[in-house]
Amino acid sequence: MLITCPYCGPRDVSEFAYQGDGNRTRPDPASTDAEAWSAYVYDRLNPAGIHNEIWQHTGGCRAHLAVVRDTLTHEIKSVRFAREHGAPPHGRRTSGAKA
Ligand SMILES: [Zn+2]
Repeated sequence: MLITCPYCGPRDVSEFAYQGDGNRTRPDPASTDAEAWSAYVYDRLNPAGIHNEIWQHTGGCRAHLAVVRDTLTHEIKSVRFAREHGAPPHGRRTSGAKA
């Protein structure tokens, strides 16, 4: 599978790390709503078809990418920088990394 990084161009998927579901919205950090935090941490979509995902180009520019992928065919529908998608990168963070 090839992912076309907006900065580096087409690269093999082995250069990328999956960072998670791109549909999640982090609750307000001051929130004490246990259900909202539980849903954020544990609930995941597992669609058969189009899925919004966050990937990091760990073997290249280290940018976080918002990828729309068909989970049935692995066809990449679109790739753009995650910051343009409006979804903050989540999961393991790398301090000082510029996207
Ligand atoms: Zn890149």
